[in-house]
Amino acid sequence: MQTSSPSVLRSLMQQYEIYPKKRWGQNFLIDGNILENIALSSGANPDLYTVEIGPGLGALTQLLAKKSRGVLAIDIDKSLERPLQQVLAPYHNVQLHFADILDVDLEAELVQRFDLAQVPEYVVCANIPYNITSPIIFQLLENCPHMQKATLMMQKEVAERIIAQPGSKDYGLLTLMTHYYADTRWLMKVSRNCFYPRPEVDSAVIQFTPLPQPRLQVQNEEVFKAFLRSAFQMRRKTILNSSSLFFQVNKTQAQQQLETIGIKPNQRPEELSLEQLAGLVNQFLGGRSNAVY
Ligand code: SAH
Repeated sequence: MQTSSPSVLRSLMQQYEIYPKKRWGQNFLIDGNILENIALSSGANPDLYTVEIGPGLGALTQLLAKKSRGVLAIDIDKSLERPLQQVLAPYHNVQLHFADILDVDLEAELVQRFDLAQVPEYVVCANIPYNITSPIIFQLLENCPHMQKATLMMQKEVAERIIAQPGSKDYGLLTLMTHYYADTRWLMKVSRNCFYPRPEVDSAVIQFTPLPQPRLQVQNEEVFKAFLRSAFQMRRKTILNSSSLFFQVNKTQAQQQLETIGIKPNQRPEELSLEQLAGLVNQFLGGRSNAVY
């Protein structure tokens, strides 16, 4: 069923007496070309399973079902169950699961739903609810070790933060943390006119390819992440101030440490690359017990 057609979508909603819910970011894609393009770029193929987050009324799900070995589609909105079952009736390789994605152990769910002996190879493909974009990205990058790729549509401004370069206004925690775990690629911009109802913002699709291991080695990952959070919360402070505050050393000592690794004390965190920031944390931790933090 062509749920990417606005008239089909509207009559389906009428039939089941459902309406798009803003709190769950329900903006359904109604552009067949964009949907085709996303499904095509996702890497879904008959050897792989696909996880879709937020299937909505199944426009993307149908395309993924045609390409994949099996699709696990997880949506929070139980009222979509009956219309989704109708839309997906021709596809016998789709498993629907109604839950909050942030509470689901994706890999365990895949194993259970498809009755597998072990976690299969899979990709994620989704037009995700925009209000939980960052938590979803971190859930995928931190807790889904077998995921091969994630192709995610999100608000355009968030996508721009992910692919930002050091020194630009968009560069920050999200850029660094995604770069730590994955290669990121901008696939396409998607106009707000491609959705029903029409949202207030434009969108873009980003593809994440997780690295086998994080991009670089840090002495203590928790301290590294905490330092990045702290430095970017005060992004107008110099790196001298934020590092001396965070590591609780005086400014002369902090300056020496920074100079040792070639960072100018008056630089701002957003001018530094992931490698430089990791080098900084390793330098300040040098010789100390990690347990101190
Ligand atoms: N993929 C569909 C719908 C996208 S709208 C399309 O492109 O047309 C976003 C979808 O995410 C909605 O169906 C909404 O119910 C679902 N959603 C919102 N919050 C969620 C959460 N926490 N967990 C799982 N699904 C969620």
